[in-house]
Amino acid sequence: MSANPAISPIQQSTAIRHDWQLDEVQALYALPFNELIFKAQIIHRENFDPNEIQVSSLLSIKTGSCSEDCGYCPQSARYDSDLTPEALMPIDAVLKAAQQARDQGASRFCMGAAWRQPKDRDIERVVEMVQGVKALGMETCVTLGMLTDEQTARLKDGGLDYYNHNLDTSEDYYSEIITTRTYQDRLDTLARVRDAGINVCCGGIVGMGESDIDRSKLLIELANMPKHPESVPVNMLVQVEGTPLMGTEALDPLIFIRTIAVARIMMPNSRVRLSAGRNNMSDEMQALCFLAGANSIFYGDKLLTTDNPMTNHDRRLFERLGLHSGGSSYA
Ligand code: SF4
Repeated sequence: MSANPAISPIQQSTAIRHDWQLDEVQALYALPFNELIFKAQIIHRENFDPNEIQVSSLLSIKTGSCSEDCGYCPQSARYDSDLTPEALMPIDAVLKAAQQARDQGASRFCMGAAWRQPKDRDIERVVEMVQGVKALGMETCVTLGMLTDEQTARLKDGGLDYYNHNLDTSEDYYSEIITTRTYQDRLDTLARVRDAGINVCCGGIVGMGESDIDRSKLLIELANMPKHPESVPVNMLVQVEGTPLMGTEALDPLIFIRTIAVARIMMPNSRVRLSAGRNNMSDEMQALCFLAGANSIFYGDKLLTTDNPMTNHDRRLFERLGLHSGGSSYA
């Protein structure tokens, strides 16, 4: 990117870009830690209230028996985890959970269903849930797998705010993790969602045995989309007994924090979300993630099927760090 003498160096670093190259992303990762965090914090402050965290709550509305083979996921029917499959939840139970989440401070309610792709009749039921949750004054997000054009349009007409569909990892490493659908399938679904005018929630998982280059390439894939995802969940692998990724060598937590900082620098306006894996992070590590530019969390006792820090603990952590939850989800 050519330097523009009319704007300050800080503004230059905050500019929205879609042309990131591998060598510059790797150079960011390789910065001295303090320098990287400082750079990320400058960009963060230019775009957001640094003490405000957007809080989303996640509910599994249909659990397990999924035909896909994502190597990290206990919901795949192919793996022998302890999970008990559950059919699509009734709408009143979903709305009760949403109300509870709202009362605990969540501004967005995310509903996840373990499907390869939903059937049209499922979409109608999900639309009812979306409308019910919106009537409670919350933003809505769903993650349902791959979508057709018609299903995407129906969700948009039904008032859906966000669609979550993660890329998980780099294109190069992807086939080590999932074989039942391609990277391109994921990109196609994301393009469909974007074209329909639904906000995009898309990120990945680190700690799956990927290389430094894979982490950089995942972030490049996200940041070089025609528009940055409005929400970028960064997950730390939660190792679940019975899944193929159980026993993967643990990632250095400082590399996780660096990933948050690099994501913040590359996607200055996006909500970078501290997602799965928070339960295994110390309060101090989470504080460093917030300093590195994370400004969204999943709140609640469960993240789809894995444990998440108890809401009271989160509330205390917010108090200790002087953080407050924010209602608006996108700068
Ligand atoms: S991550 Fe989603 S698509 Fe993959 S196995 Fe789990 S529920 Fe199915």
